[in-house]
Amino acid sequence: MAIQDVLQFGNPLLREPCVDVSDFASTDVLTTLADLQDTLIDLQRIHGRGGGLAAPQIGSTLNIVYINAKGRSFHLSNPVIVERSEETFEVWDFCFSANAAFLAPVTRNLRIVVEYRDSSGEKVSEEFEGYFSELLQHEIDHLNGTLFIDHIRNPESMMMVEEWDRLHNNGQQAG
Ligand SMILES: [Zn+2]
Repeated sequence: MAIQDVLQFGNPLLREPCVDVSDFASTDVLTTLADLQDTLIDLQRIHGRGGGLAAPQIGSTLNIVYINAKGRSFHLSNPVIVERSEETFEVWDFCFSANAAFLAPVTRNLRIVVEYRDSSGEKVSEEFEGYFSELLQHEIDHLNGTLFIDHIRNPESMMMVEEWDRLHNNGQQAG
């Protein structure tokens, strides 16, 4: 449908919890699904990194996330993390709502189980591990008004993206 502007840190809408999708055929929902896809693909083209986008980042209050990463492209509506592994890992994270300008290490659960509705409203329960686990924890946090900076334990470890790219050759993580 359309590429949307991405709300940036400091916008109070990023701190509001979203509401569940009930009518999967409504214009509002269909527009949000399409706009998330168009906007994420544009952001990936511009920044060369990132794998997901959440509805509040484009000003929608619906519980919808769009993922486009590692050859898999799908929407999750009303996603809820129902299980988290005790095992954790540390990942360099960043956010398109901070213009993907800096990264910081955050600790995430290595594996999660997510219950969600697919784009046609069908119930799905799926386990995610590693990269996708981190990505979905980041995006589902957005739906609850939580940002990755809330998880930063060591602010001194934050790096601007130019410096991070100089030290690492592979772009990674959320959005
Ligand atoms: Zn984000």
